[in-house]
Amino acid sequence: MLLATDLDGTFLAGDPDNRLKLYQLISAHPEINLVFVTGRGLESVLPLLSDPTIPQPDYIICDVGCTVVHGDSQQAIQPLQGEIDELWPGAQVIEDALTGFEGLQRQEVPQERRVSYFCGQDVVCDTMRDRIEALSCEVLFSAGKYLDILPRGVNKGSTLSRLVDHLGVDPEAVLVAGDTLNDLSMYEQSFKGVCVGASEADLLEATEHQARVLHAEATGCGGILEAFEHFGFLGHAGIAAEIPESATSGKSDLVIVYHRLPYEEIVENGELIRRRPKSPNGIIPTLLSFFADGKAGSWVAWSIDDPDLGPFQTHTEVDTDRYEKLVAARVALSKEDVEIFYKRFSKEAFWPTLHTFWERATFRDDHWQVFLKVNKRFAERTAEEAAENAVVWIHDYNLWMVPAFLRELRPDVTIAFFHHTYFPSADVFNVLPWRREIIGSLLQCDHIGFHIPRQAENFVDVARGVTPLEVTRKAGCAPRFLTYGCAVGLDEMSIEIAVNDRKIGLGAHPVGLDLNRVRNALNDSDVQTRMETLRKELEDVRLILSVERLDFTKGILEKLHAYERMLSEHPELETKVTLMMVCVPAAKGMTIYEELLSQIEQTVGRINGQFARVGWTPVQFFFRALPFEELVAYYTMADVMWITPLRDGLNLVAKEYIATQGLTEGRGVLVLSEFAGAAAELRGAILANPHHPQDLADTCYYALAMSRSEARNRLSEAFEAVCRYDIEYWGREFIEAVEQRRTTKLKKIVPLGQSAA
Ligand code: UDP
Repeated sequence: MLLATDLDGTFLAGDPDNRLKLYQLISAHPEINLVFVTGRGLESVLPLLSDPTIPQPDYIICDVGCTVVHGDSQQAIQPLQGEIDELWPGAQVIEDALTGFEGLQRQEVPQERRVSYFCGQDVVCDTMRDRIEALSCEVLFSAGKYLDILPRGVNKGSTLSRLVDHLGVDPEAVLVAGDTLNDLSMYEQSFKGVCVGASEADLLEATEHQARVLHAEATGCGGILEAFEHFGFLGHAGIAAEIPESATSGKSDLVIVYHRLPYEEIVENGELIRRRPKSPNGIIPTLLSFFADGKAGSWVAWSIDDPDLGPFQTHTEVDTDRYEKLVAARVALSKEDVEIFYKRFSKEAFWPTLHTFWERATFRDDHWQVFLKVNKRFAERTAEEAAENAVVWIHDYNLWMVPAFLRELRPDVTIAFFHHTYFPSADVFNVLPWRREIIGSLLQCDHIGFHIPRQAENFVDVARGVTPLEVTRKAGCAPRFLTYGCAVGLDEMSIEIAVNDRKIGLGAHPVGLDLNRVRNALNDSDVQTRMETLRKELEDVRLILSVERLDFTKGILEKLHAYERMLSEHPELETKVTLMMVCVPAAKGMTIYEELLSQIEQTVGRINGQFARVGWTPVQFFFRALPFEELVAYYTMADVMWITPLRDGLNLVAKEYIATQGLTEGRGVLVLSEFAGAAAELRGAILANPHHPQDLADTCYYALAMSRSEARNRLSEAFEAVCRYDIEYWGREFIEAVEQRRTTKLKKIVPLGQSAA
């Protein structure tokens, strides 16, 4: 069958339950040809195509019948479009013909092959009709205010009729649906039709005596469902049986969806063993702490399905002593899926683009398909775990498409998303070939958190290019965040947006530190011994420390060049400073980093070759990950911590350094790139622009030369922020924001049988 439906007031309207039912029915029946037939221009239909809850049309007839395109590619359907184009003289010709008519106001909506105005009935006169007819066009006036000038003989019905012919569809298998007089032409083609409940009186009157047109009771989608029954589409057995069961609810009130499990899995003697991570990073313990009060929960994460290790276990315990009712719900992935989803696609397509290095990105459709498949599995597992009205907290860009799949399966749950990675503005993000799908998915969330206001605002910037969006609440960013003081600062941010009938909360929640982890390291006797040795070794030299993963976003080469520049400009630093560079290798198999490593090694070699003296090495390069405890020992010793990412979501190393120096009453100086998220938070740091070689060299030199008192004051300012906004604060603030959303959402749910006010 072919369902040709008007959008506003018809396919996009009606009781939410009926909308869901109709949409699910259509998705479950790919044999239904779905045609959107609308007065909107094509550009105003596009936002619907990125909404994962709305079924995708096979064809779109828009501009009141003047534009006809394929649903998937949005390319013109020929020769139908060509025939319409032949009749159209162009907007300028029409506008010229109508000059001199008072009271015409051009409609400010996208429009093609037609010109649309607002005006009163009195403006539409015979002179106007004559002028328009002379241009082989015609005047369509409706609802007492809409004036459309269209190519002659073109309307929704005529184009639909041509399309049905063109496709060779049996006219008896066509159902048209609408609600206003604008749709009348569709009912005049002798198709079966339905005027949905609450249709415009003039349409009802005009179709009153047409035996093949049903005047339905229910509004919007409900009316279409009635027509399916009435005309026996999809069989008379009743469509109720056709509607797929919605996913059954699980037991978890909180579901964390994270790419990593909360424990380590290692294979020993051919057996998979779970163990608590030795030195867990801050966020996992904080997320786990939400289950410490016995809350029923699930932690959804992937794990490799290796047939050699026996049958795959979907559920495992996490730590029944501490988190009684928490289970890990494992998503089985093959090694190949992990390779593509995690190591290749996420890192090669999304990572560079998110960090504004889009020219380094590679986009492959077959990889995107794997990404979708994996995200769908995550969503399905989550839907099985979540209790009714549960909170689902999804983490980071690897799982961007989970909200889209999850919302379809579980409209009841509150979906929260935290974006751990930098989020760029539209100029950069829009390079992603799948931007509409990604944003359409994120807009299914109830709350989206980013580290800093700039990233949240960039998201709004991108979303606005995908769909009509209203900012419903804004908030000032100061004093917690920098405003005009750094490259990623912002004075005001959007904290709530409305898209269609949904509101979405946005928040700036920079991840904080677990200070106890630093305290424990400082109290560790091995660390103290290490500190003692280092103190002796570094007695006569000032230590500049640099710690980062091997990644082009981290500005490692830029830092080396700046160091070289500083040594050249300040010969007095010879033998007095040393740059210790800890560079953590990327995961195995990530070939994109190989070239960078060799460039770094060459530059280190060149600097040491040029400046080294007997007993003095200007750069000490460590290409390995150090245990956190050892790192803390270095943090205590560093006179200057030099962190220079070209772009960074946050940068935890900066906070760890501040915490270590603060807890040991040190007087170290943090020199931080103003493009790291943490720069918007850490007053007291010396900010530098890593794209400006002279600035990088000057700020590092300034930090080395800084007076003790200035260093102390700066440190205490930054330390205060690190202490106050720690990891616990982050988790609490985020969950509170999500709970608020959930409460508002639950208040809005009206029990079945009662109508919403
Ligand atoms: N880290 C570590 N050993 C190292 C280098 C880094 O344990 O040799 C840790 C560091 O303590 C920090 C994390 O890795 O917690 C890096 O986080 P950051 O936000 O700075 O950078 P990302 O790698 O997430 O971009």
